[in-house]
Amino acid sequence: MDAIPLRKYKTYTGRNFRQIPQIAALSEEQRFAIEVVSQVLPFKTNSYVVEELIDWDNIPEDPFFILNFPQAEMLKPHHFTAVADALKQGVGPKELLNVANAVRYDLNPHPAGQLQHNVPMLDGAAVQGVQHKYKETVLFFPKHGQTCHAYCTFCFRWPQFVGVNDLKFESRDVEQLIAYLQQHPTVNDILFTGGDPLVMSARVMAAYLEPLLLADLPQITTFRIGTKSLSYWPYRFVNDPDTEALLALFRRVTAAGKRLAIMAHINHPRELYPPVVQIALARIHETGAHVHTQTPLLNHINTAPHLWMELWREQVRLGCMPYYMFVARDTGAQHYFGVPLVQAWEIFRTAYREVSGLARSVRGPIMSAHPGKIQVLGVSEVNGTQVFNLQFLQGRNPDWVLRPFYAAYNPTALWLNDLQPAFGEKAFFFDPQQ
Ligand SMILES: *Cc1c(COP(=O)(O)O)cnc(C)c1O
Ligand code: SF4
Repeated sequence: MDAIPLRKYKTYTGRNFRQIPQIAALSEEQRFAIEVVSQVLPFKTNSYVVEELIDWDNIPEDPFFILNFPQAEMLKPHHFTAVADALKQGVGPKELLNVANAVRYDLNPHPAGQLQHNVPMLDGAAVQGVQHKYKETVLFFPKHGQTCHAYCTFCFRWPQFVGVNDLKFESRDVEQLIAYLQQHPTVNDILFTGGDPLVMSARVMAAYLEPLLLADLPQITTFRIGTKSLSYWPYRFVNDPDTEALLALFRRVTAAGKRLAIMAHINHPRELYPPVVQIALARIHETGAHVHTQTPLLNHINTAPHLWMELWREQVRLGCMPYYMFVARDTGAQHYFGVPLVQAWEIFRTAYREVSGLARSVRGPIMSAHPGKIQVLGVSEVNGTQVFNLQFLQGRNPDWVLRPFYAAYNPTALWLNDLQPAFGEKAFFFDPQQ
């Protein structure tokens, strides 16, 4: 382990990114575009991503450059022009924020209706920072975990990071969550999410986890932590000042007889190659935790099937379980990152058929939409008509799960709301008007 040097943790945002030495090689137009788009979408990167992941000889095509640095095309032209004009006119900060917020509200900031629909109630009051959509799992958004080591330009959680208060979603109260869980014995799985909960110190993380471990909740068998730290700050598990305390906390969870599942968000196989990442994985595994991986399919980033083959094979080699391939959601820069569903299915099957059964734990392509998690099973021809085959893996109504259904073939559809029922039906079986 002494082979892994310490790296200075430095973050860059729209304010200071011009300090990054490699940025000097970009044109002024490119730098201005970063400044424009970062008024609307969150922008943060860090020294590890800049020095280790981005290939600066391949700008602007490099996937990690695109994943962290806002690109002009991520805004629609009229939105880009509105913000660019405001910047060029040198308007004040308040006016600039108004222009940016007007664009933000145009970008469907709450896809899948997450603010209105999934907030649970306890004794007549909303439980803050908790989403309960599927009966066996609750999502918990710890107050201190609502940021990330770097922001992904595609992220559907982008409204949480831009400081627009009514777009935010977070909690500081674990006691309320415990009370809620005591009243809801169907829940056996708590998913800590954000942001990235592992931006929190081990001490703060323990303040959330330990009361849950100590509470009398035998039905809770699994704790999951959704995180991008493995890819964007792997030192978290290797040589951060409180790494040992964090790993000790992981051990306390597994020693309590619970499964600790690290849900690692990974976009590209290159994230797995640095030696520090492989050491981080080994250290996580030593605690008895398991690592599952999920990956959105993104135009400009990972549409080549061989990348998926490599991703899944390498994950299995490193002891990770490939879990989901997601379709880019209908928010933010979907027009930039979206891949048509038919192409998503082709990419998935092309890669899937080349990997061993151990990697076929992966499910995809999945749309995490308002009614549930819908898998695109593929395209079939029925009586000479082409149709999409779909099924729910998770449903707002559990009775919808694993009932195959059909949508009219549409080669450009990017998302559920682009699909119509097949065979002239008026509505899908799960539509409210049915
Ligand atoms: C994806 C998701 C879950 C977890 O679903 P799994 O299929 O168990 O991973 C829980 N709640 C919400 C709102 C989700 O989107
Ligand atoms: S690390 Fe996760 S939550 Fe944070 S910006 Fe990226 S995708 Fe979004």
